[in-house]
Amino acid sequence: MENIYTPIKKLFKRAATGQDALPDSSERFIRLVRRAVENSEFEVYYQPQYNYNTKKLFGAEALMRWRQDEKNEVSPAVFVPRLEKCGMIYEVDKLIWKKVCADMRTWLDLGLNVPHLSVNLSGDDIYHEGLEGYFTSLLAEYSLKPKDLHLEITETAYIKDLKLMAEVIDSLKSKGFVVEMDDFGSGYSSLRTLKNVPFDVIKLDMELLQESETNEKAKNILTAVIEMLQKIEIEVIVEGVEREEQAKLLGRLGCNYMQGYYFGRPTDREHFEEILKNNR
Ligand code: C2E
Ligand code: CA
Ligand code: CA
Repeated sequence: MENIYTPIKKLFKRAATGQDALPDSSERFIRLVRRAVENSEFEVYYQPQYNYNTKKLFGAEALMRWRQDEKNEVSPAVFVPRLEKCGMIYEVDKLIWKKVCADMRTWLDLGLNVPHLSVNLSGDDIYHEGLEGYFTSLLAEYSLKPKDLHLEITETAYIKDLKLMAEVIDSLKSKGFVVEMDDFGSGYSSLRTLKNVPFDVIKLDMELLQESETNEKAKNILTAVIEMLQKIEIEVIVEGVEREEQAKLLGRLGCNYMQGYYFGRPTDREHFEEILKNNR
């Protein structure tokens, strides 16, 4: 059956991990990052999110890319943990959030139907004192509303101070931001976090879904987890949907918000703009 979700094919050149492109020494890595910031080597890609029930675009996740030159692209799975380790993630994330707001403003001014855009926040970001003020001034600068920007809290945040995190999230929510818990079902993102932190949306980690096709136990756990999340009335987005059968399974479970290669790979802003032009 034809896949209706990806109007533009082959948008994404597979990224090399780029592990070798990064120096081992922290000082050299920091110098390289500073130069990359000056040379605008950090870019934003957007991955669409669809409502499988209505077949409509309902959002997109902004994912950072580091393009060192024409040939070399380093994967965020490699460089984000290094940025976190050397205390530079907040600086680089702020740059990405600003680019996302600027893109959204441009698209709104073009009269496009722009859904919410989700940005990623690392552990260090969430505990940063200036965070809320930064977002508030960013939204004012680009005349956006808090609900336009969803905040995805990545897994590394959950290992630190859960009580403080709940307070920060409460405060962000009181300002109107939509806060999402990323990677639920993996690593540190536990039931305790779910119980104690007032997230608006849960993003289900892709591993369970991907194992569900061959492993009956994984499928039963996936079904039970979705039922549990529906019971506590929290919105769920499933990541890593790569095939139609997976989308159908999720649809049968009543879980219609999906993101993954089946619907579209992360694409650069120009290609995402084309997707928005088709979003009526
Ligand atoms: P994440 O937030 O869990 O993002 C989802 C990852 O899964 C992305 O990898 C995305 O390209 C990939 N993905 C999407 N659909 C599929 C699929 O169907 N199958 C498979 N196998 N993978 C899929 P990416 O872009 O390499 O990012 C890796 C991680 O780096 C992210 O995981 C996130 O934790 C971090 N990251 C990316 N951008 C940022 C950012 O701007 N700031 C921060 N702090 N972290 C970021
Ligand atoms: Ca994410
Ligand atoms: Ca995730």
